[in-house]
Amino acid sequence: MQQKIYNLLRDFVAVESISCTRTEREASVFIRDYFAKFPYFQGHPEHFGIYDIPDDPYDRTIPYAFLKGNSANTVVIMGHFDVVGIEDYGEAKPLAFDLDNLEAKLKTMDLPPEARADMDSGEWLWARGAEDMKAGLVVDMVLMEDYAKMAEEGTLPGCIFFMGVPDEESYSAGMRAGVKLLSDFKKKYGLKLNVMLDPEPCAVLEDGTQILSVGSVGKTMPVVMVQALIIAPLQEGALHPSYVIGVLTITMVWCLHFWITSGRRWWYAGILFTLSYIFFFGWQTYWGFLTLDGKKWGTRG
Ligand SMILES: [Zn+2]
Repeated sequence: MQQKIYNLLRDFVAVESISCTRTEREASVFIRDYFAKFPYFQGHPEHFGIYDIPDDPYDRTIPYAFLKGNSANTVVIMGHFDVVGIEDYGEAKPLAFDLDNLEAKLKTMDLPPEARADMDSGEWLWARGAEDMKAGLVVDMVLMEDYAKMAEEGTLPGCIFFMGVPDEESYSAGMRAGVKLLSDFKKKYGLKLNVMLDPEPCAVLEDGTQILSVGSVGKTMPVVMVQALIIAPLQEGALHPSYVIGVLTITMVWCLHFWITSGRRWWYAGILFTLSYIFFFGWQTYWGFLTLDGKKWGTRG
């Protein structure tokens, strides 16, 4: 099974599915074609396929595979197949998606001590997307083979819904559209969605402690930004006392933080700077949001 997982991962990594490019679509096709070989899906073609994300600028899609078991209890397996860019590979860039050969090339290059120690340990695979997170998806895809056999034989106790999503590294277009796909299946088959498994890699501290992430606050930050920078001043006016007090408080906190950490005398000049930025130069932000679609946006254009 280990070799099977490795081979599938090597082929999957070779699909250069960088976020916000048309290559993300090819990764969907890869997953769909993998499931198409299962006898279960040949017998149930309506249980797997590719779901088009409506109005997506890169025509991205969500590959899915549904195994119908003997009860409504359902495990959802979900993970992203897009990866970040490869600029940081330097001269090894042409091999960034080559699981078999990247490691040998990186070995000859200057590596940070931490990365060198990982490489010497021989416990890691090297390629863009290998860890984050195609390996997780591939493990589950291979496991699906056995579960599909059980579903065919009528011995699978509950249902499994597998879903690969694009665009996780940027705006989560895949996950947002995936909710609709999942709820369609839920309604159609009367599923009880008990648990969702996301085989993402996890961070490990120096003492070996593994970190479990329980939320995705980063994804909601734009909401906070829009609320604070656009909605509040538009509704109440930029000179509304609560808004000004809020801005001043945040500014004070940051300036004090700067003072404590750097010990510089001119820390309070930051208050003046922040206020002038918000009330005199802040219009750049609004212009930025309004012209987000253009190639050049904000005052940088
Ligand atoms: Zn990830």
